Amino acid sequence: MTGIRASRGQSARPPDEVAPAQSADVAGQRGEAAASTSPGGTAARPPDDVAGPRPAGRGWDYAPAPESREIVTIAAEYGLFVDGTFSPAADGREFPTINPATEEPLARVALAGPADVDRAVAAARQAYEQVWGPMPGAERAKYLYRIARILQERAREFAVLESLDNGKPIRESRDVDVPLAAAHFFYYAGWADKLEYAGIGGASRAGVTGGDGGASRTGVTGGAGRGMAPRPLGVAGQVIPWNFPLLMAAWKLAPALATGNTCVLKPAETTPLTALLLAEVCQQAGLPPGVVNVLTGAGQTGSALVGHTGVNKIAFTGSTEVGKEISRAVAGTGKRLTLELGGKAANVVFDDAPVDQAVEGIVNGIFFNQGHVCCAGSRLLVQESVADIVVERLRERLATLRLGDPLDKNTDIGAINSREQLDKISALAAVGEAEGAQRWSPPCRLPERGYWFPPTVFTGVSQSYRIAREEIFGPVLSVLTFRTPEEAVTKANNTPYGLSAGVWTEKGSRILWMAQRLRAGVVWANTYNRFDPASPFGGYRESGFGREGGRHGLAAYLDA
Ligand code: NDP
Repeated sequence: MTGIRASRGQSARPPDEVAPAQSADVAGQRGEAAASTSPGGTAARPPDDVAGPRPAGRGWDYAPAPESREIVTIAAEYGLFVDGTFSPAADGREFPTINPATEEPLARVALAGPADVDRAVAAARQAYEQVWGPMPGAERAKYLYRIARILQERAREFAVLESLDNGKPIRESRDVDVPLAAAHFFYYAGWADKLEYAGIGGASRAGVTGGDGGASRTGVTGGAGRGMAPRPLGVAGQVIPWNFPLLMAAWKLAPALATGNTCVLKPAETTPLTALLLAEVCQQAGLPPGVVNVLTGAGQTGSALVGHTGVNKIAFTGSTEVGKEISRAVAGTGKRLTLELGGKAANVVFDDAPVDQAVEGIVNGIFFNQGHVCCAGSRLLVQESVADIVVERLRERLATLRLGDPLDKNTDIGAINSREQLDKISALAAVGEAEGAQRWSPPCRLPERGYWFPPTVFTGVSQSYRIAREEIFGPVLSVLTFRTPEEAVTKANNTPYGLSAGVWTEKGSRILWMAQRLRAGVVWANTYNRFDPASPFGGYRESGFGREGGRHGLAAYLDA
């Protein structure tokens, strides 16, 4: 069995045999879009970065700008990464992973069963006790820095592989997923030898004034172990979703490793390839065997990992439903748990907000990564007096987005990750129509093969509608209106979730007023979907508990 680059047996189909999905201007013919989306007859705005006259009679178009997929060699088969090497599953089972933009099979991947989970947890335990746990933080940091640098060196390879396996536009995997993943390793490498100064136990020894080093003010728990260096928990079982496969792996692995834990990571069934390439990077960085183990498989593999008695900590990102199941499985076992679950965020636009800027934020909030984002701004709350103009500008802007081949550098909207997810989005959108909301999408040619859903806006949405309450996890926006700031807060908080929110206004005082009242772990002001490794991220209520990122992210992996 092999890592990502070294192929065994027959390799995956070469690029020239693959019929890539064509980039399709979401507007179809731009003249057509202008007619249908702009009642006043104004043409859809051309993107700012393209100049020059438009040929009479038809809209100009971008030339295709595909990223070459030859940068990455995809093997025909991949093994499990356990104890520093790749090997088949104990019972030899495998499953396929496909390119959602073309339905082309990319590779076959080992499906880990209970015996493999046993083996991975045993390898992680041994590495924890004999190598990684006792290793000084400054030495652990060197490995993390090395992983971060290799991620940067191989960034294009990772970006192409992520877009192939996930369906997201290369522009996003190249500019967001991969750089942020490297940034997380850099950031947590910096903490590895400073854990006793992090305000999580050990604060007084470190000379931090204020008893708990300010921890109580910032939400980092601690104090009980004041004066003692915080200790790692042991073996961490980490289960991640398919929407940001590499980035979620980095969010989980970097803080766990920096704090001296060893890891068994279970990537999502539909997106295993970049986690396996990251495993190869661990080999390349000389990480001691067993410190990171990657078990590919389905929900049952995740369930076996969660239930394994040799695991000290479970970190999960995914659906609220599975999060609740994991909570029940872990209850009473003494395992530590953090859950980062779903959301139904409100993106609140006041009448004093600059409209064009707000429209960019709305588009970024819900159409980034096809809306497969737990913190997506899927409910637009817009002040009634500006609702018409905001919706009109939004439609004009959506008509300029390009949907299609994820490897084309011009593409804004890629493929839906799986048939199951496409069916779920389609079903909920149909419910929205049946409930009485008005559905709108720009004229849009969808590629014939693969899983696609056009950017969709529902207006006339009432708070009781399912499209206003349930996480759709797709490029679907529900528009609601409000008259007063109090009403905006009430409507924004009218959700069982509490992960994120956005506020658009020119008044700083209003931003602070709103931020104090919105029940969300993250509130973005005049921006949306901004992530930084130094900034904590996490939710309330059905969005889960625990924080990832920043100093707070260390606490999830330390016993203080
Ligand atoms: P899941 O929550 O089912 O999957 C997340 C991860 O958990 C995957 O690795 C999955 O494996 C694994 N898993 C599934 N069942 C179990 C279990 N019983 N015990 C342990 N691990 C398990 O998300 P889905 O991919 O099925 O997506 C369903 C919905 O969840 C989406 O439509 C969306 O609404 C929401 N979602 C939210 C995310 C978020 O970030 N908040 C991320 C992804 C989805 P496998 O992939 O093999 O099933």
